[in-house]
Amino acid sequence: MRTTRQREEETQAGWDLHCHTVYSDGTLNPEGLVREAQEKGLGGVAITDHDTTAGWADAGYAARENHFPVMRGSEITADHHGISVHMLAYLYIPDNPALQALFAATRARRIERTKCMVDRLAKDFPITWDDVVAQAKEGGDTTIGRPHIADALVAAGVYPDRSAAFAAAVGGRSKYFIPVSSPSVESVITAVKEAGGVIFIAHPGATSRNRFLLSDDDFHAFADRGLDGLEVRHRDNSAEQQERLAGIADRFSLLKSGGSDWHGAGKPNVLGENRTDPSVVAEIVSRGTIDLVG
Ligand code: AMP
Ligand code: ZN
Ligand code: FE
Ligand code: FE
Repeated sequence: MRTTRQREEETQAGWDLHCHTVYSDGTLNPEGLVREAQEKGLGGVAITDHDTTAGWADAGYAARENHFPVMRGSEITADHHGISVHMLAYLYIPDNPALQALFAATRARRIERTKCMVDRLAKDFPITWDDVVAQAKEGGDTTIGRPHIADALVAAGVYPDRSAAFAAAVGGRSKYFIPVSSPSVESVITAVKEAGGVIFIAHPGATSRNRFLLSDDDFHAFADRGLDGLEVRHRDNSAEQQERLAGIADRFSLLKSGGSDWHGAGKPNVLGENRTDPSVVAEIVSRGTIDLVG
C-alpha cells in the first residue's frame, strides 16, 4: 500500500536538476529557463551554471514572478587523478568564503586556459580573445569556457553551429585543446558540505568526456566522504552505464537524479528530457541549507 503522501508525490511532475543559462554557457537567461520549464509542465528546475552563483539572483526573481519553483545550484568542475569530474551542488550557502574562493580560482584558471587555447587557434583561424569575450552574454559575470570559443568561431563563419565546433577544433581531442586545472573531487565535496549543500556527480558515465570512468571503488570512497548522489539519467550515460550507476547508488546509499544539461540553443539537449523524482527533490531540500524559491 502506498501512503497518501507517496501518491501525491507520484502525481507531481519531475524536476530537471541540470540547466545552464547566460551566466555560463547557456543561451537564455534565468527568466527564459523558468518560462520554458513552466511551459513544459516540469515540477521545477535547478539553475546549475558552471563554477558560479552569479545567476542566482535573477533565477530567484524569475521564480517568484512566475510562481515557479527553482532550486539554486552550480555545476562545479573537479578532477580525480586526471579524470575530469563535473559535480552538481545544490542549496548551499552562497557566500561561504571557501566555496567562493574555489569558484574564483576556477574561473580565473578558465580564463587563462581559454586564452591559451585562443592563442593556439588564432594561428589557423580568424579569431581573437576579444571575439571570445564578446560572446559572454553577461560580461564578467559569465563563466567563460570553450563554448564561447565555439560561438566566436561560428560568428567568424568557420563552423555552422557550436556542436560542429566541438566536433572539430574546440573538442577534447583537438590539437588546440587545453584542459582546465581543477580542484579534487574530495575538496569539492568538503567545501560544499561545509557550505551546507548537497552534492552529486554529474553525468558519471559519460565515456565521450574521459578516457577512463570513475571506478566503483572511487564512488565508494566519495560516498564515505559525504557525496549525496549520482546523476544517473543523463543523455551522455549509456543505458549500460545507467544500469551500473543505479546499482552503485543503491549499494552505497546514494540518491539518483536525472537532468537534461540544457544549454538553450547551445546544445541539442531538450529541457526536461531527463528528470528527477519529486521524492528525491524533497530529500535534497531536507539535506540542503537554503530554501527553494518561487
Ligand atoms: P569547458 O568547461 O570550457 O571545457 O567547456 C566544456 C563545456 O562545454 C561542457 O560543460 C559542455 O556542457 C559545454 N557545451 C556547451 N555546448 C556544447 C556543445 N554543443 N557540444 C559539446 N559541449 C558543449
Ligand atoms: Zn556547460
Ligand atoms: Fe557537465
Ligand atoms: Fe552541464
